[in-house]
Amino acid sequence: MTKKQLQSLAKQHGTPLVVIDHDIIRRNYAEFKKHLPKVQGYYAVKANPAPEIVRTLHKAGASFDVASLPEFMLVYENIKHLLPKEQQDFIWDKIIYANPTKPKETLQALDQYKPLVTYDNLNELKKIKQYAPHAGVVLRLRVPNTGSMVELSSKFGCDPGEAVDLIQAAFGMGLVVEGVSFHVGSQCTNFENFVQALNMSAAVLKEAKSRGHEIKILDIGGGFPAHYNQHVKPFSALARKINAEIDRLFPKDMQILAEPGRFLVATAATSIARIIGKAVRDGKPCYFIDDSVYHTFSGIIFDHCQYHLKAFKKGKTEICAVFGQTCDGLDTISQSEELPDLEIEDLVYSENIGAYSNASATWFNGFPPAKVVHVNQ
Ligand SMILES: *Cc1c(COP(=O)(O)O)cnc(C)c1O
Repeated sequence: MTKKQLQSLAKQHGTPLVVIDHDIIRRNYAEFKKHLPKVQGYYAVKANPAPEIVRTLHKAGASFDVASLPEFMLVYENIKHLLPKEQQDFIWDKIIYANPTKPKETLQALDQYKPLVTYDNLNELKKIKQYAPHAGVVLRLRVPNTGSMVELSSKFGCDPGEAVDLIQAAFGMGLVVEGVSFHVGSQCTNFENFVQALNMSAAVLKEAKSRGHEIKILDIGGGFPAHYNQHVKPFSALARKINAEIDRLFPKDMQILAEPGRFLVATAATSIARIIGKAVRDGKPCYFIDDSVYHTFSGIIFDHCQYHLKAFKKGKTEICAVFGQTCDGLDTISQSEELPDLEIEDLVYSENIGAYSNASATWFNGFPPAKVVHVNQ
């Protein structure tokens, strides 16, 4: 998107505004497929659940990772009429339910679809057996999340040492373990996490096989880093490592899937906000904008992600602070941005804000979430 296009969209739709460019989503998905050709991408819907994105990625060939019943229904309702007849009865190619903990009502509602669901402990397995006996199951392993922007390993995944017992327990109950999965942590820039996780998975699969259980699916999760800045190494370098380990560790006919969320959508959105107030504090210019950390910038809190603001105006920049519109001190977007001298009503924008941003926006303080517009759909 050029600055001109962004400005004209802001003029047309008002602010705060989030612009999602579907050309970039398609490009990101194509890059994913190009470098990981043996891996089927299941887009992790929670990164940005816009139905427009679901439809674009479905058309591009993606499948979906959902983590709640509403997400499952969102995907199902948007793709089911587009599926060939024989696939309507077999949802695994298109959807995995990858939240290891599910309320019993969700399992009851999912059972009719014969879903593929994850688990990481015995209690969950018993629940699946009781409430969704037609589900296939995937065991989630706990793997190192070292250095990832968002850590997931303290909440999810069984200890590798208990993995094979949990696989046997499932078969013992009459369920079928179809796969193992892991997640290296979101925005994983330490590629060794993937190498270690693949090696741990291979060890689990090998031991399961020695006990008579051949497992066909390997789900390498999400965590593929979005290119927020020049310090993020290229995706091709990560893919090379992953491909080499997959070739070395797993049989040729292993079905490999992944759950990229951030990687597919982060770089596809730009937010535009308007300066609604201006002050000087301790000699530093402070701007107040009509968006907030409770809205499009929620990733600052929930996603540990820092977003930078840019001005459309040119001019000598100085260090300033940018605050959100709500009446909360926590609502600080940045204590040190470099912006030119701006006036009330000027616009600012923030790039790479498509993942875990408006997805977690609230109505706090009576302010509605920013309007979203989709371009190049
Ligand atoms: C959130 C999530 C993802 C997506 O992670 P990204 O880091 O955005 O790629 C994938 N799988 C599961 C199970 C998740 O919870």
